[in-house]
Amino acid sequence: MAGADLKFACNCNTLRGTLVGAGPGTGTRVECFCHDCRAAEVYAGQPDPAPGAVQLYQTTPFRVRIDAGADQLAPFAFSEKGPLRWQARCCGATMFLTARSPKLSFTSFRTDRLADSDALGPVRARAFVRKPNGKRGHEGLAGFIAGFAARAIGARVSGRWKDTPFFDPDGRPVAEVHLVSKAERNALPLP
Ligand SMILES: [Zn+2]
Ligand SMILES: [Zn+2]
Repeated sequence: MAGADLKFACNCNTLRGTLVGAGPGTGTRVECFCHDCRAAEVYAGQPDPAPGAVQLYQTTPFRVRIDAGADQLAPFAFSEKGPLRWQARCCGATMFLTARSPKLSFTSFRTDRLADSDALGPVRARAFVRKPNGKRGHEGLAGFIAGFAARAIGARVSGRWKDTPFFDPDGRPVAEVHLVSKAERNALPLP
């Protein structure tokens, strides 16, 4: 199925871009209830999503085109090995999550940054959902992982993993990564 080209922007419209060919056939819409996604929103000065989820569209980085304000991309991480969370330096808006290396070709895009997300189809997976017994579990995860793996492997085979706005040709992030210290994280207002 051919996807749609969807415009996105940070809160203040400085960092703008297009999800190219986006749709249910080229990515998976996911809700994530995990502690890190929530902490990332609060760290970035965005509204606390709890008890709700962070809304994501998981796809390949070559579908992300930055049209303006690429110099505002600012990655942070909660650990040395943890994924990179990319916010817009201008207004703090959380935008993307990527692996540490472009070779693992995936990105989770914050769908709140789209003017209209209908073209992405329905949410097909829910991660770290709190169950009635207090534990956390996943719904629709098998399909999510299958799509993730198929897209990442496809991008490796085709070479399209190299087409990414997040890393330079040497595989380094395009902006310096801020490692959030334990103290910084512990100081976040997370009731
Ligand atoms: Zn902004
Ligand atoms: Zn999460």
